Amino acid sequence: MTPAARIRPRRPERARHPWIFEGEVAELPAGVADGEVVTVLDHRGAFFARAYCNRKSKIVLRVLTWVDEPVDAAWWRRRINDAVARRGMQPVDAGVRLVNAEGDGLPGLVVDKYGAWLAVQISTLGVESAREAVVAALRASCSPEGIFERSDLPERELEGLARRTGVMAGAPPPPELEIVEGRARLKVDIAGGQKTGLFLDQRLNRAAAAAYSAGRTVLNCFAYSGGFSVHAALAGAAEVTSVDISAEACRLARENMARNGFAEAPVIEANCFNYLRDASDAGRTFGQIILDPPAFARGKSTAEAASRGYKEINLRAIKMLEPGGVLVTCSCSRPLTPRDFLGLVWSAALDAGRELQIVEERGQPTDHPALLNAPETSYLKCIILRAI
Ligand code: SAH
Repeated sequence: MTPAARIRPRRPERARHPWIFEGEVAELPAGVADGEVVTVLDHRGAFFARAYCNRKSKIVLRVLTWVDEPVDAAWWRRRINDAVARRGMQPVDAGVRLVNAEGDGLPGLVVDKYGAWLAVQISTLGVESAREAVVAALRASCSPEGIFERSDLPERELEGLARRTGVMAGAPPPPELEIVEGRARLKVDIAGGQKTGLFLDQRLNRAAAAAYSAGRTVLNCFAYSGGFSVHAALAGAAEVTSVDISAEACRLARENMARNGFAEAPVIEANCFNYLRDASDAGRTFGQIILDPPAFARGKSTAEAASRGYKEINLRAIKMLEPGGVLVTCSCSRPLTPRDFLGLVWSAALDAGRELQIVEERGQPTDHPALLNAPETSYLKCIILRAI
């Protein structure tokens, strides 16, 4: 029988939150090993959920199911199958997220599909303990050529886990793996790229941004492998400049621009804070500016410094917009709500003395579902504005 933990009464807004924090736990039997699945009882002793536990983490229990059912290899297979089935039919050479952690009822697990290869991120001990069942389920539901692990996540330390990368099953990903995203062909380095190789969460925002690029001089800041730049160029931008601080990202961006027929497009290795300051001081202007920085705020303590960072880059960008120019500004900081972010852009526009029209307020694509019960899972903001 599964051992049982007991929780205290929860605040109403946390009633069905899948993360059960240290302070919410009344009792966790000493015999339960970290990583093991336990039955969670409510304060009255009634069945509440089944969850995996880890005392090393502040989130001691993560709920896997609210139903009184066994969590075994067949359970993992059903959950993973369901997530894959929800994505529907995909073109064989597409990039798509198949499993989005809590959003798919699988906290601690992310699976991205790039053509015939899968990239897996395991961020918790609970999923680490089920890795054989996870790999078996992925092989059965997707028949991939290979599964590669990219569990080189800082969050693993909070779980007492070392970082881990390498082949989990099948063949290693080929060095020249390419996916098709709309009209763009993008190289994906699963083994060595950032995250799992590509920022798939921006897939639809890249296409949306490109709808405003025709005929414009475009500046793409924090470009990584140049996804926004390739889409802008294909949509008929007059000129596209990409900027990123990482030499490896710039190399990928150059390669992707060349692959799509834009080998001449400038890709600049620079800190965007400096680049934006220097360009705006020099009086440069652009018809479209894209800002897609990494998460400046990770926790509440960094929120203030993060806000200053977002405001700074948005202020510089807004100053450089031509009349009618378009700003595509993004934030993937979880602690920042869409309202907070809009407020920051607003205050940057006020300081710049420019009036902006909100054209689109966007978020995560359908393969990155968020969970209504866990507001933290909704993190991506992408606002498209026009200077009037
Ligand atoms: N827009 C990209 C994803 C950007 S991820 C896409 O669609 O794929 C954020 C990028 O910002 C990373 O490539 C990282 O190398 C880069 N970066 C982080 N800090 C930076 C800085 N201060 N200046 C320039 N680039 C930075």
